[in-house]
Amino acid sequence: MSFEQLGLSTDLLRAISDQGYTKPTPIQEQAIPVILEGNDVMGGAQTGTGKTASFTLPMLRRLEIHANNSMSPAKHPIRALILVPTRELAMQVYESVKTYGKYMTLRTTVIYGGVNIDAQIDAVRSGVEILVATPGRLLDHLQQKTLMLSKVEILVLDEADRMLDMGFLPDIKQIIQLLPEQRQNLMFSATFSEEIKKLASKILKKPVLIEVAKQNSVSELITHVVHPVEPIRKQELLIYLIKQQNLQQVLVFARTKQGADRLAQQLSRQGISSAAIHGDRNQLQRTQALENFKQGLIRVLVATDVAARGLDIEELTHVINFELPNSPEDYVHRIGRTGRAGTKGFAISLVSREENQLLIGIEKLLRTKVKLEEIKGFELKNLQPQILDKEAPIDEKKLKRNALSVQNKNVNSFVKHGQAVIRFNNEVISKNTRRSEKSEDPLFTQPYVSKVSDAEAMLVKQDELNKKVLHKKLSQSNRPLPALFIPPVISKQK
Ligand code: AMP
Repeated sequence: MSFEQLGLSTDLLRAISDQGYTKPTPIQEQAIPVILEGNDVMGGAQTGTGKTASFTLPMLRRLEIHANNSMSPAKHPIRALILVPTRELAMQVYESVKTYGKYMTLRTTVIYGGVNIDAQIDAVRSGVEILVATPGRLLDHLQQKTLMLSKVEILVLDEADRMLDMGFLPDIKQIIQLLPEQRQNLMFSATFSEEIKKLASKILKKPVLIEVAKQNSVSELITHVVHPVEPIRKQELLIYLIKQQNLQQVLVFARTKQGADRLAQQLSRQGISSAAIHGDRNQLQRTQALENFKQGLIRVLVATDVAARGLDIEELTHVINFELPNSPEDYVHRIGRTGRAGTKGFAISLVSREENQLLIGIEKLLRTKVKLEEIKGFELKNLQPQILDKEAPIDEKKLKRNALSVQNKNVNSFVKHGQAVIRFNNEVISKNTRRSEKSEDPLFTQPYVSKVSDAEAMLVKQDELNKKVLHKKLSQSNRPLPALFIPPVISKQK
């Protein structure tokens, strides 16, 4: 199917062609006609598959009748409201609206917190048809009566699962009360839990459910791998991986703001240019860090989940989970920063024993096992799967059987699903899983509640680290790289 067949206007088709898009992505193919007909939509699609255009293009088409050149603000009331969870995503969606609507006279602006409100007040007062906003700042404007939502015809919740979770829900409820009853509602996300689905059904009217890539909630272009490692050696392993693979653009996820800051500092000290991006950094710092990363001026961006959702970083090849997220849905969003728009990506997770439950949660959501690969020199020491496995009773016979299997020095092992997975030359030769093989839709799965606490010791003494890294460099520089890292990383020089 071509864009021409989707019922878009010539102005939009020109803008699409300027972008170099030759055909619609699956979510665009399915969502655009349904939205053009005026239906409410709940769209589940993998991250990086063209979700933004799938709601922006038909939205612009439907608002075309309101396009006018009048100077009067009254002639430009807000007709579409796009709510997003983060400032960075707000800017990104705003850029998309501008890009796709560049041949139209519809006006658009973006409002988000962390910056002075005055310029935003001027922008909304002059009249805009499309407003992209984060909920908190929108409420500030509403309290100051600088804008009105009574003419809104289309409401979009991007990253809808996050918009409807406990953190945002009170704000969203308040905002929705100010919208006209009669309107079109569009919700998009890569993941929807049952709870969120129920909530969404209260807002949507007879929604059309659009699901793309039902059997797999993450892109098949992404290679997932887990490197088991002691928590205390994570930093060292991260530096080793970046240096050994000469990775030039890596998005690293840390669980806490302090952890992200600390890690970025440590990496910079090791000669790997890095910056941190999280909720405690001011908007200028966040924008600067992201821009520098996109431009290739820094190699590593260390982010927390709150700052990184929805970011579209062109040709990003590597996402590394320094720590696994507490919710498996966040794993999907994190790794969705790579493997976008048809490009290959690598999602690497550094996982300690303490994070095993989190890994199980992720695998449950993905309905697939993530490949485990030990890095030589960083193996988890004295790993005896059955003894380490606190949940499973110790089976003496099995212990003996597995002891025979591990006699070969090439065997790696790691605890998974409360059982042992024994690997021989990276092939699983002994495994046992208690996971049920239910075939329900992975996009709409019950949320996972973590049992693991946030904090995790990860400080390594600097001189110790230096010695270890140096040692690795000298002794391992001529060794072949692990298979995962063989594809060369193309450094982005803009
Ligand atoms: P999104 O999922 O909306 O964040 O989009 C991910 C990336 O895909 C963005 O860089 C878009 O510019 C790009 N994109 C969107 N639609 C298409 C298309 N039809 N063909 C090629 N690239 C696209």
